[in-house]
Amino acid sequence: MGGDPTGDGSERVAMVVDEDRCIGIGQCELLEPDVFRLGDEDAISRVVDGADLPRARALELVDRCPSGAISIADA
Ligand code: SF4
Repeated sequence: MGGDPTGDGSERVAMVVDEDRCIGIGQCELLEPDVFRLGDEDAISRVVDGADLPRARALELVDRCPSGAISIADA
């Protein structure tokens, strides 16, 4: 997939949440409410269908998740 021709982290990437690792803190939804949505019933985060972010921002989200549940889909 893709690559980053410009090398500045602006290439858009998809993310995945490992539902077994997510502890439902909601940090991701707070930071990117259009991309991550906590389940109403199980409070587990899921990526909104088709949502993506610039790679640099996606890496920030990976870092900010306290349980290490977020990863970049092509990484
Ligand atoms: S930041 Fe991580 S642990 Fe918290 S809700 Fe999002 S995926 Fe789950």
